[in-house]
Amino acid sequence: MRWRKRRIQSLARESIENLFELADEAYSSHPDRAHRYMEIVRNISMRTRVRIPRHLKRRFCRRCHHFLVHGDNCRVRTRNGKVVVTCLDCGNVMRIPFVHEKKHRAKNLTDTR
Ligand SMILES: [Zn+2]
Repeated sequence: MRWRKRRIQSLARESIENLFELADEAYSSHPDRAHRYMEIVRNISMRTRVRIPRHLKRRFCRRCHHFLVHGDNCRVRTRNGKVVVTCLDCGNVMRIPFVHEKKHRAKNLTDTR
């Protein structure tokens, strides 16, 4: 049983990544289709309890579940160590801290010295 669950989850993770790619391609000509893909992503993620990968999380709106394209239907700014993503379709604001990246960079700098 455990094996089966893991297999389903790895399939789910793959589908989620694929759907984000599809949405990326579809957005320019069919934005509605891209948003529909996000609904499917949400469904898969909830049903299989697979988290949406970190790098993709900021590409869809948590409130209206729209696919977000930077510079088109969302605004991306950095502020006080956070990436602030504003969905221009519903006005939802997501703040993603980048403390980790900062720490990483600081470490790399000291390493090269
Ligand atoms: Zn939104």
